[in-house]
Amino acid sequence: MNTMAKKRIEILFENDEILVVNKPVGISVTADRGGADDLLMLLTRQLSPAEPLRLVHRLDKETSGILLIARSRTAQSRYSRLFAKRMIQKLYLAIVRGPLPYRGGSIKDPIARSKRNPQAMHVHPRLGKPSHTVWKELADFGTLSLVAAQIVTGRTHQIRVHFAHRGMPLAIDPIYASAEPLMLSAYKSGYRPKIDKEEPPLIDRLTLHAYQLTIPVGPQEDAEMRTFTAPPDKKFVAAVKLLAKYKDKSAPGFHDQNDLLRILRSEQMEYPLKTETGQRLSRREKEAAYNRILVSEEQLEQTVRDLARRLNDSYPVNEPATAVVLLEGARRFAEDLLKHLVFTVEVRYLKASSYYGSTESSELVCIEDSEKTGGQIAGRNVLVIDDIYDTGRTLAHVLDWIRTRQPKSVKTCVLLEKRVRHEKQITIDFGGLEVDNAFVIGYGLDYDGKFRDLPFVAALPDDFEN
Ligand code: 5GP
Ligand code: MG
Repeated sequence: MNTMAKKRIEILFENDEILVVNKPVGISVTADRGGADDLLMLLTRQLSPAEPLRLVHRLDKETSGILLIARSRTAQSRYSRLFAKRMIQKLYLAIVRGPLPYRGGSIKDPIARSKRNPQAMHVHPRLGKPSHTVWKELADFGTLSLVAAQIVTGRTHQIRVHFAHRGMPLAIDPIYASAEPLMLSAYKSGYRPKIDKEEPPLIDRLTLHAYQLTIPVGPQEDAEMRTFTAPPDKKFVAAVKLLAKYKDKSAPGFHDQNDLLRILRSEQMEYPLKTETGQRLSRREKEAAYNRILVSEEQLEQTVRDLARRLNDSYPVNEPATAVVLLEGARRFAEDLLKHLVFTVEVRYLKASSYYGSTESSELVCIEDSEKTGGQIAGRNVLVIDDIYDTGRTLAHVLDWIRTRQPKSVKTCVLLEKRVRHEKQITIDFGGLEVDNAFVIGYGLDYDGKFRDLPFVAALPDDFEN
């Protein structure tokens, strides 16, 4: 009898629509080939739901961690769509074989099912589907490393295949690397095994755990981005702690000790993709961007100064205003702008994510208020600072969100306005420049984490790979 089957599945979050659970290692999400109870059966037994539970995405049987489950057909289609549109972020923890040549990176090797072994996937430049993993090293233990991996696409075995292909396979992975358990004696110098006892393995499972998931929660019109974390099981945590303790003397261990604490306390980790803002550009990319400059560095400086002068003329010096800066795009603009303001401004940040580039007309905008900006609005003169007015969906949503919190006044300050027919009409009180209807990059605006650092605004080069 499988003892796992008796254990309760840990529920991390639930509402009428969804469940977020922590799947133990060794349990299939559905229809186990060996006939053992699968996760949906276990959860159904545990919760006796009114409607059948439905899958939205999957985890391999040997991968543990966070999994979203739908409680209705409507929820299933809503969240499946969000996955397809890449509006859902996921972060995995993986112990891999090092030492790694870089501290982080982006892997875009196309993945296909192997013809020789239908159980396995492999990188295939022609037949593979586009696949994208972004990773960063959290700790370097010497011959092993702990990495955080974020998958932009969600192909079968994606992390396992991508990492194996790049020479940094999971420390334990029966298909793509070695099935051998990790033994502490192999890492701890001077380790003396007990004479009459066999050494227990440090860890003997696939060294991959789905740690974190960020999804919109709540009614579609007013969904809020929320991040959930799934504590790794005791063995995984113990392995990480012991590897950190008995690492090679010359290896740095955790690059940031806070990451270890976050894992121990199951706190939210930073997504690797977020830290890519300063991603290096190739010479070709840089040249392509220089050739498509729309607003030069000097023009930007002048525009920011003009905007600051107009703001200084409009806001009384002695009445503090609250600037709400929309992340990530407006950060750079706001930093430059605020330097020139002479009235008192309290700066607040708000993250509004909208899916971009779809042809559908009703799009989701989600507000992630991790700094509790919402509580600082009542009775204040609020100035919303954004990078660009395109469809206007984001600003419309943010302005509604702010207005329901009873500010004294709300004004908008936007650096760029696209020459397009805006879907939502917004009054831009302080507007910078108009730009042609192209996807623009630079001066804080990114494409896939790139180009933010350019000092000018340019149109995205046509041939830029997707
Ligand atoms: P909206 O379509 O809602 O007016 O624009 C929403 C957000 O999408 C903007 O605040 C900005 O962050 C982003 N965005 C819109 N157009 C562009 C663009 O051309 N380039 C980049 N990098 N971001 C854009
Ligand atoms: Mg924006």
